Amino acid sequence: MLLGLNMRYLPIHVDMKDAKILIVGGSSAAEAKLRTLIKTDANLCVVAPEISDEIARWESKGKLVWKKREYDLSDLEGVRLVYAATEDDIENAKLADLSRARGLLVNAADQKDACDFITPALVDRSPVIVSIGTEGTSPSLARAIKTDLEARLPSSLGNLANVINSLRAKVKSKIPSLSERQLFWAEIFDGKDLLSQLRVSGNELTSRVSRKMEGHKDNKMGSVSLVGAGPGNPDLLTLAARQKLHSADVIVYDRLVSKGVLDFGRREAEYIYVGKEPGGASTPQTEINAILVEKALEGSTVVRLKSGDPLIFGRADEEVDALEIAGISYGIVPGITSAAAAAAEIGTSLTTRGHNKAVSFLTGHDAKGFAEHDWAGLAAGGARAAVYMGVGASGFIQGRLLMHGADKHLAVTVVENASREGQIIVATTLERLSEDIIAHGIKGPAILLLGYAPRSIAETSFKRSAAQ
Ligand code: SAH
Repeated sequence: MLLGLNMRYLPIHVDMKDAKILIVGGSSAAEAKLRTLIKTDANLCVVAPEISDEIARWESKGKLVWKKREYDLSDLEGVRLVYAATEDDIENAKLADLSRARGLLVNAADQKDACDFITPALVDRSPVIVSIGTEGTSPSLARAIKTDLEARLPSSLGNLANVINSLRAKVKSKIPSLSERQLFWAEIFDGKDLLSQLRVSGNELTSRVSRKMEGHKDNKMGSVSLVGAGPGNPDLLTLAARQKLHSADVIVYDRLVSKGVLDFGRREAEYIYVGKEPGGASTPQTEINAILVEKALEGSTVVRLKSGDPLIFGRADEEVDALEIAGISYGIVPGITSAAAAAAEIGTSLTTRGHNKAVSFLTGHDAKGFAEHDWAGLAAGGARAAVYMGVGASGFIQGRLLMHGADKHLAVTVVENASREGQIIVATTLERLSEDIIAHGIKGPAILLLGYAPRSIAETSFKRSAAQ
């Protein structure tokens, strides 16, 4: 699942203090719009020959100004937003056109196509506002979500936000670094059982923040987390990885790390690409090590994001060595390795009770070229292995295994882009492996699962689309 790839409507919270909003219409459609609008600090101007009792009540309380007449073009002067909310669709569409011609944003009641903006369902705990939009596809779904959130978010939430706001300056002067400060606040509400945490009183929260500030040590030294990004599908990211990404100042990432995963980083973070293209340009490992050390010494919270699991064919030790020599604190967050993702996609266990007790993780390439392995041992043990970086070496692997007595009918499954967009599964045999890799145009990233056949491609493909 790639989030938000196709967002037609941009959700933004616009400052409406003292802005003029024109509402044309005085009955139920206008009243419905006004119910939200009167909560803002905008100057509301209602133009209509007649208005409902409720609107009249709002007028008498000074919440809006009523012009008792039909609208004319002069009403559009100096206006920021227009609501065409008469009970007449044709009239509304006409006003929408007139407004749009003047560059104004307009909402025409119950006519999505005539609207520049639509209003979301709101859960109002001012200043905390949760707005729920479905781009007009399903108002009933939006309402159901709203009802659920209404019941769950405590009414004191707005007050809590105000208390936090009043404490921010104090925390900022004590902890100047943005990333450390984010961590500080993240630990105040750590997301575990959030709803009960939100039920604390303002006083309790204030003393919790003070206690935590007293315990806070100034930490000018940065740190590095080696984080597994998984096989590419953001759904397969661990919570720890998401949290690390969220608090990183600098994100150093590889070629196979997907955009959907990078999106969990903050926009203000610095993103450094250090990809190694197979057979193409690459960032030397020593340079990557140097970047990590330098950024951490500058005081940054660094995330070194590696595809899959950082400890499997990830050259993590070289980076960890460099960090240790420089005396930089580091941590490792494991990720789902691509062999595990590939096995899941074909619905087959990597180990099966009573059948195979071991599985090898092999690389097709090493520093010298095609990697040599204990081919005889592998062939004798039924050649159960997941081969990383094996696409280019597939002919070599096939030849070596056959030469050492492996069964030419041994099942082999190639999974390209496991778990991510463009996934291809090719079920073949050892004897046809390299031929089929070429025939299917497999370029990688791919895992070769030697000794494994898909349980059922149809079934697993179905599962994928259901999960997305
Ligand atoms: N640390 C990574 C492996 C890095 S080596 C891990 O644990 O998965 C790079 C190799 O990983 C690629 O050549 C390919 O064999 C494999 N790989 C990475 N992402 C993959 C994916 N989504 N599908 C299949 N193979 C993948």
